Amino acid sequence: MTIELEIGLYIFMLAGFLGYHLISRVPPLLHTPLMSATNAMSGISLVGSLVVAGAAYSPLSTAFGFVAVTCSTTNVVGGFLITDRMLRMFRRDQDRLAKRELGRGAWLAAAGLLAGVLALLRWREELRPLLRGADLTQALRFSYILSAALFILGLKGLSSPRHARQGMFLAELGMAMAVIGTLFHPDIVAYRWIIVGLILGSVVGASMGLWIPMTAVPQRTALSHSLGALAATLIGISEYIRHGDALGQILMTTIGLEVVIGGLTFTGSLMAAAKLQGLLPGAPITYPGQNASNFALLAVMVGSLVYLIVTPSAGSVFQLMVGLALLFGFLLVVPIGAADMPVVISLLNSYAGLADAAMGFVLMNKIQIITGSLDGTSGFLLSLLMCRAMNRSAVNVLFGAFGKIEKEAEGTAAGAKGTVRRIAPEEMGVLLDSVRSVIIVPGYGLAVAQAQHGVAELAKVLIKRGIDVKYAIHPVAGRMPGHMNVLLAEANVPYDQLYQMDQINPYFAEADMALIVGANDVTNPAARHNRASPLYGMPILEVDRAKSVVVLKRSLRPGFSGVDNELYYNPKCMMLFGDAKDTVNTLIVALKS
Ligand code: NAP
Repeated sequence: MTIELEIGLYIFMLAGFLGYHLISRVPPLLHTPLMSATNAMSGISLVGSLVVAGAAYSPLSTAFGFVAVTCSTTNVVGGFLITDRMLRMFRRDQDRLAKRELGRGAWLAAAGLLAGVLALLRWREELRPLLRGADLTQALRFSYILSAALFILGLKGLSSPRHARQGMFLAELGMAMAVIGTLFHPDIVAYRWIIVGLILGSVVGASMGLWIPMTAVPQRTALSHSLGALAATLIGISEYIRHGDALGQILMTTIGLEVVIGGLTFTGSLMAAAKLQGLLPGAPITYPGQNASNFALLAVMVGSLVYLIVTPSAGSVFQLMVGLALLFGFLLVVPIGAADMPVVISLLNSYAGLADAAMGFVLMNKIQIITGSLDGTSGFLLSLLMCRAMNRSAVNVLFGAFGKIEKEAEGTAAGAKGTVRRIAPEEMGVLLDSVRSVIIVPGYGLAVAQAQHGVAELAKVLIKRGIDVKYAIHPVAGRMPGHMNVLLAEANVPYDQLYQMDQINPYFAEADMALIVGANDVTNPAARHNRASPLYGMPILEVDRAKSVVVLKRSLRPGFSGVDNELYYNPKCMMLFGDAKDTVNTLIVALKS
């Protein structure tokens, strides 16, 4: 083992531990912005990509480097912009002024940095003689150290919505410093493809970051994991070709890990994005012997890697390994249902971080090792939190084809026993006249119906009538961790009205009404007492303890788990059938009139 590798491994480990401590302090409220922020930071793969794109090692290297620069820039620009969009939503009146000033400062700084990069690129030849005396390599190292510190401070800022934007501003500064420093890397001799890649990536990233609706954040996240992984895979392939026969065992190991993790993350994330966008069927696709064949594929892939470590020059085995990695990512995600995609994208987030760190080891770039490790830890931690909130193991999510149950159980749900009480919107108006406190429980159906603005409006009407309104947020309600918080913040719901599951559960017994909007599994009391239920053990929102319960959904159909909800047969529960958005709008009209 070389000293550099040893130091790299220590850095990787310590960054992971530090990341664990910082990320476990991020409140669930900010879990979605956390994912896009770490995503943007892992776009630091840009620094390695810039060198490969500009070093003129070979035409193929330049081409791969150019694609990698474009992908990484898309992630950096898109990731930071969408994070900022989300964080701006979590504001309180007293924060508005300060935030506006911060926003103005951030735009000025961004414009200044862009002008700086363009000026540097324009006058680089004139600058070279001036800088010849200076030790550029040392300057680059210092810029990376400072960037790493700024990234860590950026993540620390995410521990509170008040400081999150300031934190992200520091992280953006760190990214800009690392990128500008890298433009003076001694290996870079040509800038043409770098400039084209930076511009192209910025345009695509900015479009994704500024205009994508909040309901589409999960698919955007999956897509950016695939771009980051593609960048890592291409750089790995280009480094394999460049080093040729001179490849040592250590470099081969790191390149192998980079392309294997990068390759499977690339196709796996593309599949996840397609399922979340509805381009592919959301139901798990299963066939006999699926897990066994996947394990066999994995074994061949690992075997190829081991063979290459011993015989790095075996180019055809390398090609086979890359092909298998791409196929494995695809097959890994095929049997997973759309509703489990949040866990999958968090895991893929973690893999994308590992691919980035592996690229850092290949290029011996310590800032990439640090951010890769931080990103890997963040994704891993979020996956664990989600699995815990669903009372399921990661193995069950990955290999259990859970959403398949939905179809099988539909028949049972339709024939379920018990009397269901219905209520009309006009009757709800009368009912609401007599309540003093309402707890709104948003779920996946609210996101599907895009009813967040209507719900926020309804809450305002209720508050005007002197009714106390709180929102109950289950950790896995919605389409990704923290997604409900972002949707409600988008609709200007103040974050101090949002209560996480543990905070709100004690309030249900005192509440006059639990108003459930498109949530199902997260309210099913069977999770508490029915050992035979697949939901048994999953912590739920204890809505059945409220004095009355009203459920807004279209039918009695079960939710993601496919399990009938016994809440609907509780005598104090009333069903208000219809699309959540339409029903909420009708309710607002009824209440206002
Ligand atoms: P859910 O149990 O999946 O139920 C959502 C309900 O929304 C459905 O029963 C559906 O009923 C209703 N719905 C759909 N479209 C609607 C519309 N346009 N208007 C009104 N209602 C609509 O949702 P949940 O209670 O939020 O629970 C989330 C589920 O996803 C859990 O099982 C959780 O384990 C899983 N999950 C979540 C995450 C995460 O990070 N958020 C991760 C992994 C798994 P109708 O068809 O009758 O309308």
